[in-house]
Amino acid sequence: MLAHAQRRMETADYLSIEQQLGAHNYKPLDVVLSRGEGVWVWDTEGNKYLDCLSAYSAVNQGHCHPRILDAMIEQARKLTLTSRAFRNDQLALFYEELCALTNSHKVLPMNSGAEAVESAIKIVRKWGYEVKGVPENKAEIIVCADNFHGRTIAIVGFSTDPSSSRNFGPFAPGFKVIPFGDADALQAAITPNTVAFLAEPIQGEAGVIIPPKGYLRRVREICSKAGIAMILDEIQTGLGRTGKLLAEQHEGVEADLTLIGKALSGGFYPVSAVLSNSEVMNVLKPGEHGSTFGGNPLACAVSRMALKVLKDEGMIENAAAMGDVFMAGLRGFKHSAIKEVRGLGLMIALEFHPEAGGARRFCEALKQRGLLCKETHTHTVRFAPPLVIKRAEIDWALEQVEGALKTM
Ligand SMILES: *Cc1c(COP(=O)(O)O)cnc(C)c1O
Repeated sequence: MLAHAQRRMETADYLSIEQQLGAHNYKPLDVVLSRGEGVWVWDTEGNKYLDCLSAYSAVNQGHCHPRILDAMIEQARKLTLTSRAFRNDQLALFYEELCALTNSHKVLPMNSGAEAVESAIKIVRKWGYEVKGVPENKAEIIVCADNFHGRTIAIVGFSTDPSSSRNFGPFAPGFKVIPFGDADALQAAITPNTVAFLAEPIQGEAGVIIPPKGYLRRVREICSKAGIAMILDEIQTGLGRTGKLLAEQHEGVEADLTLIGKALSGGFYPVSAVLSNSEVMNVLKPGEHGSTFGGNPLACAVSRMALKVLKDEGMIENAAAMGDVFMAGLRGFKHSAIKEVRGLGLMIALEFHPEAGGARRFCEALKQRGLLCKETHTHTVRFAPPLVIKRAEIDWALEQVEGALKTM
């Protein structure tokens, strides 16, 4: 058998092997990527593309950021995993730097985003029983329609997207769904057994849905007054994506629990965290929650550098400035197929009218022109490039969008 590196593979070979041997839980564009640097990625045929998805905002810092790469290699040579049975010399520094940056009191380190969401659900339930005095097994958590919080059983159980939940039941009870962006609906849904409200500041997977101005502020007031925990899932909106470190900062609010993941490692490694600004996290006692990999020294070292470059290299400010440029450019296209352009920072969506024949076709046309985007649902394209994107690269991207619009 040929050594791994010597085997000659064509694009068609990758596709057919994946088709044959892989679970069919994704329908990716047929581009096989093998290298990345900053905003650019290359496929196995040597074609170059501007990445306008950033792995769903996990590579905000750009592909293979050299300083994060160095931190990862250096730490990997020293110590990768101890489990939390012992302490490691990266965890305390990770806590300190993350708390200082996000103004948090406490951190629970986990791995995937879904694990951070699950952890928050466990924490607020326990807090509800032990501090609020909710009767055993009666805790309610209010969530929003069209949410996306991950793929575990508890989470898909309160998804309103049938393709996420159909035939995966039975599900955990205790979740109540209200419309997103409707503070009055939150007020009306609260009962004495409500322990928390969970929402994304901007719904990413739903198609970059931006709530009315003042929504998060009103949610904060309602949660504080009712004595329930406000949980914001900033796994996609956080870490600079919207032009602020956290999207909640656009409205000057602090959630009781804020969930981050994705770009927390700059895309090198799955790292997530529950950030706490209140007493809520204090209910966890030794032995009651954990994760073999959560808080491991490799993850901590990578995340420390991922956070550092985000700040040192001005990526958050760049996201705000370049987001405005990108959005203004998109808004300048007066094409009859376009229904709406919306966004905040570099989290941008272009929605087509249903008659336009779907966004997938548009993404295929953009791919031909060297721009990688992904449709969300049927009619919306998301533009979310790494936050290191420059003005000239946006101008180039806009030219490709204009060209692809001609095919619509
Ligand atoms: C991606 C995402 C998650 C899930 O994160 P995973 O790492 O895929 O488990 C949760 N919430 C939001 C808002 C996300 O965008």
